[in-house]
Amino acid sequence: MKLTVVGCSGSFPSAESACSSYLVEADGFRLLLDMGNGALGELQRHIGLYDLDAIFLSHLHADHCIDMCGYFVARYYRHEGGRCDAIPVYAPEGAEQRLTTAYADTPSPSSMSEVFDFRTLGSGTFELGPFTIRTEKVCHPVEAYGIRIEHGGRSLAYSGDTGVCDELDELARGVDLFLCEASFTHGKEDIPELHLNGREAGAHAARGGVGRLVLTHIPPWTDGERNLADARAVYDGPAELAKAGAVYEV
Ligand SMILES: [Zn+2]
Ligand SMILES: [Zn+2]
Repeated sequence: MKLTVVGCSGSFPSAESACSSYLVEADGFRLLLDMGNGALGELQRHIGLYDLDAIFLSHLHADHCIDMCGYFVARYYRHEGGRCDAIPVYAPEGAEQRLTTAYADTPSPSSMSEVFDFRTLGSGTFELGPFTIRTEKVCHPVEAYGIRIEHGGRSLAYSGDTGVCDELDELARGVDLFLCEASFTHGKEDIPELHLNGREAGAHAARGGVGRLVLTHIPPWTDGERNLADARAVYDGPAELAKAGAVYEV
């Protein structure tokens, strides 16, 4: 699998990065994990606008899904070749209505479904293109999912947004690459059931015995290096901060 960090800024974009969005590719299939603020522009640095095969939205906070409104325009009003077919969009219940409301004036209340085939997420396992997918509901103020992706004996997990939870341990167990949020700073913002701090992300990685830890969703006002040091204090495998444009062969 090839993982590209399209955007990794937490909560709002930074000068260096769009919000959460990660491209996972294998066997020519392209799955996008989240499409936060600014992600649609960055995505076009890596693939064409119409090259996606499926989209996963971890939850409906704007920093994970709001560029779907722009992507609706691109697919619905495509200038060459006419309207796009509906692409599978795996998202929590209510995604279509939420995005339609955010867009404000779609031609009809069901216009989004003409170009997005919304599929309601739950906890479970399913096949998607060449991937075996497992999703688990994680711990966040709104319904939110983490995801584990397996292909050809390799695996990666993405936390989405979450506080400490057993479900994240299940997703991360033994993965080759663990893309884990670390929004908060240990000792400063230890708020349960919202986000992880660097130490908590490192502890999840250590419990899971993951091959590599990539910390992501660090807000512009947070010191990423401090969060990375906190993670390294409890996880002794390779660990780094996600950076926009970074590519990993998993
Ligand atoms: Zn977020
Ligand atoms: Zn969130």
